[in-house]
Formats: sequence, structure tokens, C-alpha cells
Amino acid sequence: AKSLGRDRIELFTPELLIKAKSAHTLHTDLREALADGQITVHYQPIYGCESAEIKGFEALVRWRHPKRGYISPGDFIPIAEETGLIVELGQYVLRIACAQCHAWNVQFGRELAISVNVSARQFADRGFIRTVTETLEASGLRPQLLKLEITETVLLGGYGGIGEMLSELRSAGIKIALDDFGTGYSSLSYLMNFPFDILKIDRSFVSHIHHDFRRSETVRKIVELAAILGMRTIAEGVETAEELACVRDLGCDFVQGYLLSRPLAPEAVSALLSLEIKA
Ligand code: C2E
Ligand code: CA
Ligand code: CA
Ligand code: CA
Repeated sequence: AKSLGRDRIELFTPELLIKAKSAHTLHTDLREALADGQITVHYQPIYGCESAEIKGFEALVRWRHPKRGYISPGDFIPIAEETGLIVELGQYVLRIACAQCHAWNVQFGRELAISVNVSARQFADRGFIRTVTETLEASGLRPQLLKLEITETVLLGGYGGIGEMLSELRSAGIKIALDDFGTGYSSLSYLMNFPFDILKIDRSFVSHIHHDFRRSETVRKIVELAAILGMRTIAEGVETAEELACVRDLGCDFVQGYLLSRPLAPEAVSALLSLEIKA
């Protein structure tokens, strides 16, 4: 051990060991969870800014661990990404979400869209596009109603041919949304070089937007730019009536956030949709 430098020794602090161990158990547990039906999908409604009507949902994965209780996706998605289990997990979410959305459309006579998050690692998988198109076909959902949400990390992930993959998905009718827009490094060049249908404006721009001239003017320009490039915009994380009024005035097309609805279990969505019909 003498030959190890300071930096190497740091690797073996108890804290890091515990962290690594818990990541390992989480991975093992996650494998089991997938097989056991502990993984479910919740749906956060996305509303039209003008009509105040539900236009679709974002599918958000949920894990109810038998011993640890609810584990946040922020804690297990990174582990699933590192271990590669995200490929299976992502495929599971896609399948459940497309089938569920189609079932609601049939039941309620709607044309609701479903947005599904996709990690960089999934794009590296050879069969990704085929898996998506086959899953869609099996679900009965029109491809135009599926939106794949990707973040900048997908674009800088270093897997060649991302642009071609996105184009291929789009020519199958599927929509591509750039998630968490504004939080990364060189978002503007991505807008120029990749084909997106939708820009999701990150909550960090939306939060307290009505108190902050710089923030609101930035969003105004993002919305203008999106219009020029033929993209629609979604304001994420709207929590107050003031924020909603502000993003609506700025011309955002869609809104999503706790003010309108939290992510809901499927039964709660069904209840919400039957209320919308009666209204
Ligand atoms: P995201 O894609 O940016 O999803 C939006 C997150 O913001 C969700 O957290 C949602 O519950 C939360 N949110 C929505 N409205 C509000 C609001 O008004 N205020 C605040 N403070 N938060 C709001 P969640 O469900 O915990 O998911 C966290 C992240 O985990 C997601 O961020 C996404 O990156 C990842 N994730 C979730 N499900 C999946 C999945 O199926 N696949 C992949 N690859 N990633 C997923
Ligand atoms: Ca998302
Ligand atoms: Ca987001
Ligand atoms: Ca995010």
C-alpha cells in the first residue's frame, strides 16, 4: 500500500465504500424490482397554455422498494445508467406508457400524447430504434403521439450517429423533445444541428419568472427562437399562478408543473380524464 499515492488512498474512505456498496445493492435490488413489478409509471399532465386542456403526459418512473420504501428516480436512474440496466428499465417504461396512453385515448376518445424520457445509454444500444417502433406498433398508439425526451448528455454522449438516429425516429412520425433546455453547456449549437420538435424550458428559468426581468426576457427569446426553428415550447415546473400567467404571456405552447398537477398514478389520471369529459 506504500506505493499508492494520496489520491489512491482517498478511494478507500469508508464513506465511499458505503456509497459503492449501496449502489451495488441498489443495482441488485433494481434487477429484482423489474422482475417483481415494483417499478411503476406515474403520469404528469401537460396542459395547453391557451386552452388549459390536458394535451398529454410525461411518464415518470417510480420504484416502491419493499424495505426502503419509495426511492426517487434521481437516486436510481444514475445507477441504472452506470450499470446498463437503464436499457431494460427504459424499455419497460416505454412499453407501459405507450399502452396506457393508447388505452386512455380509446376509453376517453382523446388524442393525448405521451412523453417518455430516454437516457444516452439507450441510444448506444444497437436495437434501440427497432425496439421503439416495435413497442409502438404493439401498443396501438399512433407514432405522432409519442415524444421522446432527451437531454444534452444524449447529444454529447460520444455515440456516433445520434443525428441520424433522431432523424430516423422522426421519419417514423415520432416527436423529439430537448429536455431541461438551458441547463447545459452549448445548447444553441444543438438547436442548430439536431432536429427537435419540442423544447422543454427548464424549471430554473420558470421559477419566480415574474419577479425577474432577466429571466422573463431570456424565456421570451427562447420562445421566439423556437418559433423560428419550428419548435414548440413547454414550460417545466410551473408552481404558482403568477408563473403560469407569465409563461402564457410569453407565448409558451404548453405547461407542466405542480400548480396544475403532480405526477399521478394511472387510476388518478383516469379519474381526472373522466372529470374533463363532464366539464
Ligand atoms: P425530468 O425529466 O426533468 O422530469 C421532471 C421532474 O420534475 C420530475 O421529477 C417531476 O416530478 C418534477 N416536477 C414536475 N413539476 C414540478 C414542479 O412544479 N416543481 C418541482 N420542483 N418539480 C416538478 P421526478 O419524477 O423525480 O424525476 C426526476 C428525473 O428522473 C427526471 O427529470 C428524469 O431525468 C429522470 N427520470 C424519471 N423517469 C425516467 C425514466 O423513465 N427514464 C429516464 N431515463 N429518466 C427518468
Ligand atoms: Ca423529462
Ligand atoms: Ca426536465
Ligand atoms: Ca432533469
